[in-house]
Amino acid sequence: TKPIVAIVGRPNVGKSTFFNRLIGERRAIIEDIPGTTRDRLYGDTFWNGREFTVVDTAGILFGDDDPTLPEAEINRRTRAQAEHAIAEADAIIFMVDGRDGLTAADAEVADILRTTAKPVVLAVNKCDSQERMLDAVEFYALNLGDPIPMSAFHGLGTGDVLDRLTEHF
Ligand code: GDP
Ligand code: MG
Repeated sequence: TKPIVAIVGRPNVGKSTFFNRLIGERRAIIEDIPGTTRDRLYGDTFWNGREFTVVDTAGILFGDDDPTLPEAEINRRTRAQAEHAIAEADAIIFMVDGRDGLTAADAEVADILRTTAKPVVLAVNKCDSQERMLDAVEFYALNLGDPIPMSAFHGLGTGDVLDRLTEHF
């Protein structure tokens, strides 16, 4: 069977945008409208000749995309999402937002992900230009290996994320 890859991270970092790019059709609804990720969560894709199933774990499972939730509750659900991914997935893409920089919620998720032996690829999204690639550097502080700058919008760096991921399959 194909390896399962979960994309985790706090709301609004671009998980669904990346998922949609990987799957090539709009299976997950991008969250400009609150509470709209109610569609399919799984999609098959391949890279470097390796097939895998991608999971967009947000929204539907944990409702962590609801902007009216208090921050503590959003963080609780994001942590639950990470724990679910550790249990169910073979590898994890941990997505953070290079424009926002490192947040307390990112650090909490990282604490959970550092406890797993499963491969974790740290993807720093919203690095939309060559200059913004440098935004990734501060995420070395999470102690999850090399932060990979990428842009789910433009496709910049997404191949590097997938190269790093498929090394493990
Ligand atoms: P999710 O909550 O993590 O699933 O995030 P979404 O995929 O719903 O994206 C949240 C917001 O970030 C949306 O407004 C997206 O259009 C935007 N976004 C996603 N990827 C990028 C990117 O690479 N660059 C920029 N500038 N914005 C992005
Ligand atoms: Mg989403």
